[in-house]
Parts: sequence; structure tokens; C-alpha cells
Amino acid sequence: MQRPKLSVVVPCYNEEGCLELLHGRVSAAAREAVGSDYEIVLVNDGSRDGSWAVMQRLAAADPRLVAINLSRNHGHQLALTAGLDLCAGEEILIIDADLQDPPELLTDMRATMREQGADVVYAVRRKRDGETFFKKVTAAFFYRMLDRITDTPIPLDTGDFRLMSRRALDAFLSLPEQARFIRGMVAWVGFRQVPFVYDRHERHAGESKYPLAKMIRFALDAVTGFSTAPLRFASHAGLALTGLSVLLFLYIVVGWLLGNAVQGWTSTMLVVVFLGAVQMFVLGMIGEYLGRLYVESKRRPLYLVADVAGPVKGHASLGY
Ligand code: UDP
Ligand code: MG
Repeated sequence: MQRPKLSVVVPCYNEEGCLELLHGRVSAAAREAVGSDYEIVLVNDGSRDGSWAVMQRLAAADPRLVAINLSRNHGHQLALTAGLDLCAGEEILIIDADLQDPPELLTDMRATMREQGADVVYAVRRKRDGETFFKKVTAAFFYRMLDRITDTPIPLDTGDFRLMSRRALDAFLSLPEQARFIRGMVAWVGFRQVPFVYDRHERHAGESKYPLAKMIRFALDAVTGFSTAPLRFASHAGLALTGLSVLLFLYIVVGWLLGNAVQGWTSTMLVVVFLGAVQMFVLGMIGEYLGRLYVESKRRPLYLVADVAGPVKGHASLGY
């Protein structure tokens, strides 16, 4: 297979207002970096707006553009997986459609890759413009919490914006899981990975496709995918509660021996409610893992393609 030097992979969900400018800026950046030997892979993740029509139009006019239309909305991480699976480049740039991550950094990222002999150059956000205070605070907390409880060191404040070598991408594509936290999975494959610091911009058009519910799910996928610490928490909590109940037992027995066995309704209720809450919480956590085990065990394809516009060169090692 003739591989292009560079593939730029972009997951898109309701991004009709961004696509044209994205195409222009990515094309210019790719041309500056590698000349004409590149492809741009746009993945339409079941958009409800005119994104697919725009992609088809762009693909008809640009032979370097491949547009892939998924059968429905599969979610950001699976849409990105589809693009990575179907791209063919020697080097792969992952970028969001909303131009929060400037494609113009490509040349510098490639230089960093060369200088440091790296397989992955991941972009670390120094600043996040145009995002809500809530999002910034929860994101900062999330990455730090994740760092503490995971066994794989996952870089802080890093999104999916990154440049990868073919061998790192192929290693990534060998991971079959459904619940995909891609930035963690890429960290897991290893090789030499180096940071590249940048300032994140505002969205060009439209609004964030990550409402709170999706953010929570994303966070749960990250935690359950990379750590069993919450499961260990169950046994630690059990141990601590056992210690506590021994103390309570002594207190009650001593009280009984001293003859003041007061039957306290309040304390009984408190203990019952507290233990009930802890048990439900622990059960819920076990359920999170169990549910994911169930989903993985079905071994369904990760994504389904409905239509393609332009020349797909990649090999599709996953999914189909
Ligand atoms: N996206 C997607 N499918 C989804 C949600 C988002 O392909 O179900 C894409 C979206 O079009 C964008 C990228 O994933 O290119 C990141 O989404 P967004 O910019 O909304 O996230 P944020 O930057 O607000 O975290
Ligand atoms: Mg964005």
C-alpha cells in the first residue's frame, strides 16, 4: 500500500459551521508540513445538521479528502477510532473539528517529534479560552484525580490533539475495547511520548458537544478503563467499618455493664442510613465495572460505516 506521509483525522458531530474553515486551515498546515502527500479523514458521527452534505461537497472538490459517514452517532471516541482505523498515513494528526486546537501547530509538533525521536507528541493545554469556569475546574480536578488512581501515567490537561507515528497508531489499534478513553489508551501503548504545550482557543462555531451527562460518562470510562482503585475502595471501606463497629460494640457492652443501656433511636437510624448508603455506593461501583464487562463481552463492532466519499486508503483493522 502507498501510504501518504500524513493523515489528519477529525471526528465531527454537528459541525457544519466549522468544516469549511477547518478544511482550509488543515490543508494549508498539511501542505506546509509535508507538501501534497497527505490525506484528511473527516468522520461524520451521525450529525443532525448539514455536516455530511458539506463533507460530500468538500470531498468532491478535493482528492485528498476522505469523508466517512457513520451509521449513527457513535460518540466522540468511537468516531475518532473509526477515522484512525481507516486512515493510512505514516504520521497521524488527531484534531477536533471546532478549531479549538490550531492546525498550524503541526509543523512545530513534527519538529518536536524529530528532535526528540518521539512516537507521540501530545498537546498539553496551558490555557483554555472560551470554556466555562465549571468545565475548567472539573477538567482540572478530573485529570489530577485520574493521575492519582490509575496505574498508567496519563498526561495531565491533555486532550486527543496529538501527532502519532504509524507504529504507535498500529499498537493503539490493537486494543479492542468498546469503552474507549483514547488519550489513556495512547499513553498505555508506551514508546517515546513527549508533551507539546499550547493555548487552546475558543470554538469557531456551534457549541460544545460535551454536556454534563456525557462528561460524567467519559470520566467513568476513564476511571474504570484504567484503574481498579474504586473496587479496592470497597474492601478498604469494609475494613474501616469493621473497625468502627468493634469500637461501637465495646461502647455498648461497657454501657450495658455500667447499667445505662439507653436505647437510642437516633443513633440506630444514623448507623442504618449510613451503612445503607455505603453499601449502595459500593454496589453501584461494582455495577459500573460489571456493566462494562457485559458490554465488552458482546464483542460488537466499534462502529459501522454507512457511506464513504473519497478514496479510503486505510486498512480497517477494527470494526469490520
Ligand atoms: N464529537 C463527535 N461525536 C460526539 C461528540 C463530539 O464526533 O458525539 C466531536 C466534535 O465534533 C469535536 C470533538 O468531538 O470535533 C470534540 O467535541 P467538542 O469540541 O464538543 O468537545 P469540547 O471541546 O467542548 O470538550
Ligand atoms: Mg471543542
